[in-house]
Amino acid sequence: MELACLDLEGVLVPEIWINVADRTGIPELRRTTRDEPNYDTLMRYRMDILDAHGLTLRDIQAVIASMGPLQGAAEFLAWLREGYQVIILSDTFYEFATPLMAQLGYPTLWCHNLHTDGEGRISGYTLRMPDSKAAAVRAFQSQNFRCIAMGDSYNDTAMLSQADAGVLFRPPANVVDDFPQFPVVTNYAQAQQAFTSASTR
Ligand SMILES: [Mg+2]
Repeated sequence: MELACLDLEGVLVPEIWINVADRTGIPELRRTTRDEPNYDTLMRYRMDILDAHGLTLRDIQAVIASMGPLQGAAEFLAWLREGYQVIILSDTFYEFATPLMAQLGYPTLWCHNLHTDGEGRISGYTLRMPDSKAAAVRAFQSQNFRCIAMGDSYNDTAMLSQADAGVLFRPPANVVDDFPQFPVVTNYAQAQQAFTSASTR
C-alpha cells in the first residue's frame, strides 16, 4: 500500500503570494520566509499590507482563481491518482487553495486556515499543527502505508526525509545543494518516472 504525498505550491500550482503580488501590483507582497524567517511576523506584515490596500479575502480569492494550476499539473495528478492514494500536504490556507482545487478535481488537501472579520478582511490564521507535513507522513506510516513524497523547497525537506522515498520537483539551487540525497526532477514526465522507480509494486 503506497501513498503519494505532494506539496502544492511550486509543484501543482504557482507560488500563491508571489502571484498575488504580481497580479495586484503590490510588490511588497513578494516577501517570503527567505526574507523574513519569522512566519508570524511575515503574516502580520502581509495582513497589514492587504488592509492598507483595502483588499479582502474575496479579492485575493478572485486573484487566485485566475492563476490556474501549473501547465500539465492536472494531467499529472490524474495519472498519479490512478496508481496511488494522493494527499496534498501544504502550508497554504484552505481559503486560498480552494479556488485552485476546483481546477484540480478537488484532491485531498491538508493545510491551514485563515480567519476573517465581519467585513471579510483577513484578520488572522491558524496553523493546524507544527511540522504538519512530516507528522502526516509519520501517521500514514503508522497505518502501514509506504509514502512517496514530492516537494520543491525547504518546508518540504522534513516530509521528504520522513517518507520512504522523497523527490524534489524544480527546486531552487540552494535546496539541491543542502539536500543532495533527494533525486531532482524538472518536469511531470520525469516526476512520473521518479514515482514509478520509487514504487515497490
Ligand atoms: Mg512548495
